[in-house]
Amino acid sequence: MILIKRATAIYKELRALAQQKRTIGFVPTMGALHDGHLSLMAAAKQHNDITVCSIFVNPTQFNDPKDFEKYPITLEKDIEILEKAGMDFLFLPEVTDIYSNGVDQLPNYDLGYLETIFEGKYRPGHFQGVCQVMNRLLEIIPADDLFMGQKDFQQCMVVKKLLQIMDCKTRLHTCETLREADGLAMSSRNMRLNEEERKKASQIAEVLGRIKKTVNAGPLLPISVAAEDSLSSNGFNVDYVAIAAADNLEVLDEWDGKRPLVALVAAFLNNVRLIDNMLIP
Ligand code: AMP
Repeated sequence: MILIKRATAIYKELRALAQQKRTIGFVPTMGALHDGHLSLMAAAKQHNDITVCSIFVNPTQFNDPKDFEKYPITLEKDIEILEKAGMDFLFLPEVTDIYSNGVDQLPNYDLGYLETIFEGKYRPGHFQGVCQVMNRLLEIIPADDLFMGQKDFQQCMVVKKLLQIMDCKTRLHTCETLREADGLAMSSRNMRLNEEERKKASQIAEVLGRIKKTVNAGPLLPISVAAEDSLSSNGFNVDYVAIAAADNLEVLDEWDGKRPLVALVAAFLNNVRLIDNMLIP
């Protein structure tokens, strides 16, 4: 694996490979890699001739400075994991490489409704940060295919919209969520849970599974309210539990029994914020 820190250097390398008609698969991450990330790398390897992973903890997408400060960094281990996974390039930029003119005058993206609900509502500015970093990364990395996780369902929708705004030809692949044995969605933030919290955290996936089982044509609100109550009474500080249309995240009061749905949860355990979702059916 070739490790490159400078934007100009990786751009040059990858342009040359693209000109030789080698396809490029790209997996952007913030590091602290786990098997969920690895499944994206495996998908990239399957689809593409050349695979690129980036590790960059993007300051502009953290609405909570404490969350940014506490974001886990395990670079040496990450490099080992990426070597083993057979990635061709690791892009490891500094903030100044990504935002060469500073972070004060970055573009604003019109994300419409997507920015007013769920993660957009509870993490103001978060999706602007996601778009700012993804726009820059896609300028630097001429990716044919981009691999992201369904775990961040709304983020995938935002990036899809960004690709349209940028008129970018890169194809987005949404890869399914990898889970621990007890159902907890793998996440770098899980490292910050203590033993008791870690055990409790699996209740999020349980609640989503219950929603999936109980949903029937008819009213949806009682189902999401019961799920929220269950988490709150077990010590979670819930931002939202919601059932929405899977194609545009419209919150639905009633279900016709046909439209694909997604159930979404965001909840804190102590000061660690966990998110997860499940497609229905
Ligand atoms: P992050 O490093 O948290 O920014 O995540 C990098 C990419 O990995 C994003 O596209 C995430 O959606 C994806 N990802 C995170 N957790 C999982 C998981 N458990 N399964 C599959 N993909 C994941």
